[in-house]
Amino acid sequence: MGSKTVSPPGTKVTGDYIEEVMLSVKAKNSSEPEFHQAVQEVLESLRLVLAKHPEYREARILERVVEPERVIMFRVPWFDDQGKVQVNRGFRIEMNSAIGPYKGGLRFHPSVNLGILKFLAFEQVFKNSLTTLSMGGGKGGSDFDPKGKSDNEVMRFCQSFMTELWRHIGPDTDVPAGDIGVGGREIGFLFGQYKRLANEFSGVLTGKGLGWGGSLIRPEATGYGCVYFAAEMLKTRKESLEGKRCLVSGSGNVAQYTVEKLLDLGAKPVTLSDSSGFIYDPEGISREKLGWVLEWKNVKRGRISAYTKQFRKAVFTATDLAKDSNPLWSVEADCAFPSATQNEINAQDAKTLIKNGVKLVAEGANMPSTLSATKMFLDAKILYGPAKAANAGGVATSGLEMAQNSARLSWTREEVDDRLHKIMTAIHDTCYVTAERYGTAGNLVNGANIGGFLKVANAMLDQGLV
Ligand code: NDP
Repeated sequence: MGSKTVSPPGTKVTGDYIEEVMLSVKAKNSSEPEFHQAVQEVLESLRLVLAKHPEYREARILERVVEPERVIMFRVPWFDDQGKVQVNRGFRIEMNSAIGPYKGGLRFHPSVNLGILKFLAFEQVFKNSLTTLSMGGGKGGSDFDPKGKSDNEVMRFCQSFMTELWRHIGPDTDVPAGDIGVGGREIGFLFGQYKRLANEFSGVLTGKGLGWGGSLIRPEATGYGCVYFAAEMLKTRKESLEGKRCLVSGSGNVAQYTVEKLLDLGAKPVTLSDSSGFIYDPEGISREKLGWVLEWKNVKRGRISAYTKQFRKAVFTATDLAKDSNPLWSVEADCAFPSATQNEINAQDAKTLIKNGVKLVAEGANMPSTLSATKMFLDAKILYGPAKAANAGGVATSGLEMAQNSARLSWTREEVDDRLHKIMTAIHDTCYVTAERYGTAGNLVNGANIGGFLKVANAMLDQGLV
């Protein structure tokens, strides 16, 4: 087998292998900046690996791992409540199945496109590998916006979406879960339609309701896991979360349970946000206030700005898209937990966070920091927990849900939480030790990328050219 990269026509030959793979990714996947960003970050870490392992280059593992095994894109027609026809686009990216069935969430948000889902699916491959469970990587979703839709509209959309998707998935093939815009309600409608079409009751989706195959702690898992990961990072500096002021962005699933676990560990969360703006509560978001947020967001489906009407000391700042920074990150704090969406922390925000003395950033959201923001955190040597490690608790607990479904058993809350905690500690250890082994102690970005890659790459070598 030759070892030279085959570049599409017009791609520059630079003599730098990683650069050439990157140029080829950009040429083949133009107009997908988020995908380029995710690949670039991983490939830069892998420079350290390729120097020690020529066999990966020989087998073109990098060129193969950036190419999805399969991309499914489909029409999703549905009737709205006025009887008008609506048409959305559905996707499933089956990225890599070297270490298990494809696994990853579905995102329903108007910003969804092929490039965003490819970035998420690519990240998912390494994240799932880090969990120590047998799960390949995938991601899917639609540009459908559940905001402002009635329950019946959401149901009709989910049924139409699943009418195409069901033939591509299965408990041993591809197991989707929730993500932005896909929570318990949507998983219920999707599961119902799958069951009807496939004529089987199986663990084909995770995030299911407790009464029909769901796992305790799955709703809490990403947020709890992210805080467990943060606590592990702090331990390496002999510190804890006790008394720390914490910034949390978003107010959905990940943000809500990040706040809950921060409270459990004695920290003081002071912010939450949604796409309209953020609230700052100088007195802290207590358990009682969080209870109000859960009801408001998950049942009434309201906007976070209403928090200030309920809790008068809090202040709401509306989103200003003309600004080149996000003012949430200028609130003074010790720790930051971005839990909304990709690229919500840019270089300017990172500068502000570092200037204000933030000593820890743990990413609940996927790729919330731009490449330059990430570099600034690493250069400043603050504790920086990258998404594919810090938010892996969600998919890990999905893996535990799959295990319970296969065994037709339900574990207790304590048992699942204990397993989640142990997995997050193990992921932190893997990242920490791998970063050290490759000569970049403390750099958990390298630790996570390399740690996640090795298991997948070795499985690909073992399984031949498929
Ligand atoms: P939710 O839909 O429950 O909540 C998303 C939150 O982020 C909402 O407050 C939403 O505000 C806000 N948000 C979404 N998009 C934007 C945007 N473009 N600009 C500003 N705010 C935005 O999703 P999750 O909490 O599940 O997901 C949040 C992040 O965590 C995502 O990056 C997701 O990929 C990641 N993640 C989720 C996991 C899970 O288990 N759910 C697992 C691992 C990662 P609004 O309502 O106004 O849109």
